[in-house]
Amino acid sequence: MALKVLLFFSLCRSWRLIRSLIGWLALSVFSTGAIAAKSNSAQRRVALCYVRLSYTRTGEDAVSPERQRANIETMLADSGLTLEWYEDVQGHRSGADTEHRPGWRALERRLDDDDVDLIIANDLSRIHRRGWRIGQLIHRIQSNSKRLLLAAPGRQIDLSTPMGLMIVQFIAMVDEYYVLDARLRQQDNARRRREKGITTGTPPFGTYRGEGGFLKRTQHGAWYLPDASFVSGPSKACPAPGALWHSFSECALKILTLYATTSLGYEKIAYQLQRDGWPFEDKRDQPRPVSGDDVRRVISNWPEYGGLIGAHRAKDRNAADLAQLDGVTFIEDRAVFPTDLLRAVALRQRKNKILYESPAHGVIKDAYAYPLRNILYCASCEEKARQAAMPALRSRLGGTDQNGIKRYRHKSGVLCGGQARSVRCETVEAELLTLLATLKPRAEVLTDLLQLAVRMSRGLKFKAVDATQQHQQALHRAERKINALHRQYRDGVLTEVDYTQQLAARQRTYTELVAQPVSAARVSFELSDCVIMLDQLDVLWNMSTPAHRQALAQNLFESIVYDLDQQRIVAYTLTAWAQFFLAVPERFDRTAKLDSSAF
Ligand SMILES: [Zn+2]
Repeated sequence: MALKVLLFFSLCRSWRLIRSLIGWLALSVFSTGAIAAKSNSAQRRVALCYVRLSYTRTGEDAVSPERQRANIETMLADSGLTLEWYEDVQGHRSGADTEHRPGWRALERRLDDDDVDLIIANDLSRIHRRGWRIGQLIHRIQSNSKRLLLAAPGRQIDLSTPMGLMIVQFIAMVDEYYVLDARLRQQDNARRRREKGITTGTPPFGTYRGEGGFLKRTQHGAWYLPDASFVSGPSKACPAPGALWHSFSECALKILTLYATTSLGYEKIAYQLQRDGWPFEDKRDQPRPVSGDDVRRVISNWPEYGGLIGAHRAKDRNAADLAQLDGVTFIEDRAVFPTDLLRAVALRQRKNKILYESPAHGVIKDAYAYPLRNILYCASCEEKARQAAMPALRSRLGGTDQNGIKRYRHKSGVLCGGQARSVRCETVEAELLTLLATLKPRAEVLTDLLQLAVRMSRGLKFKAVDATQQHQQALHRAERKINALHRQYRDGVLTEVDYTQQLAARQRTYTELVAQPVSAARVSFELSDCVIMLDQLDVLWNMSTPAHRQALAQNLFESIVYDLDQQRIVAYTLTAWAQFFLAVPERFDRTAKLDSSAF
């Protein structure tokens, strides 16, 4: 059984398939019918429509804002509702938080208004990428007797039914794991590229990524005009008399040379380049004067310029890394600048770093993902906050590493009456484990989800894309057997009773064959494993990395209140989605008096 636990995370791998399956199922289970405004009011009825452009590495969203708008308009075409648009389509608008989404925040302010009938978005991930936020939103929408609609074809889900509600929560959960999984995979990808000697991220100033991902000197540059402004353009097209052209890679070379051969600091190098009209290029490919920060960055990129890839990003490099400098050999045919120069730059940087920076100062070696970060609270502060009805008095216990021992520590400068100021992470997490073991999925949810899995495996009429020839033949045989049965019945060879019995059996075989090959069977298998996972949160916890534990904990708990003196969990609040899926055990229910949801 324990092995099956692993499948919970392999769920992420086929999340697309699962989501399309859920979408398909939602469509087949609920016919949403025509969307109409609630007719019992003469007031203007409004639909709040939300559009978000999500950010992808390739810069393209699979569902463009135009597509999202079109889907929403189609769905509400005959509804009689007034459409009110809220959009976050400029720049990077992550679904993981709301801070950078003014459009969404404006929509939220309208949420409770009387004239609002429903909220509509193309799909759930437009609204939030966090399961608990979805849970909160649904709760708010329901308590206001509003509706939430999803407009993407195949995703229309009616949230007034328990099944629709469950599916939405489930999608949100899968979405969230997808975000985490994508991040972990991206980190892994970056690591593999580094091992192959290919840099990730923006190429250092003055270079671009050429064939095979290796750096090359750029031929681009900019004109410095007599009025001290910059214009980008090729070296042949002089924009004004007296204008001066430099390429960006020459500028980088100039910075490195000044640093290696003079005793000028970053600022002074920048001033000199500004006086001489050297152009720098910002992230949006616009030329501008060189700043001290630019100089620092160029200097720190000496390994990349020399064809090397460091384990850290240039800005995170410290004196300890530089200490191994003597053993460094540059890769000549990948270097974009003379390696003698780069070595001189590195030597000066090391000297400066040792002079101005104590080796361990402010260096975070490996950021550890404290599983209970952001959700663990001090019990005495919590009690004070409750008595004074001042949520601001609550204090989180943050993660800290004390000589290799990881602990959760009380905020400094706050005296709340408790004696102990910190606790070992393992002590808290051991108790959390016993709590997790007591959290069990609600029986009806379990049944519903399992039925969902079964129905998926049976009802799907997938095209057998990767079906083997053998399987095709088996399908044909089954089909012929059914046709033969029809003929025999028609010709009077079979009685009606025999016919019905045999037909049912043969059709069952056929359906099983149809459902068997493609990933459908596997998906339903994984879905049922996911259900099993809800049943074994403690096992899942034990098998997870700290980063996964953090995601799991934050998915499950809004807060956990911990008594540092008694070293025990005294209360906790489940997230909205977890409340939906999980039954609260009685033992902890009684102690959960300090319910932080009172705020
Ligand atoms: Zn406290």
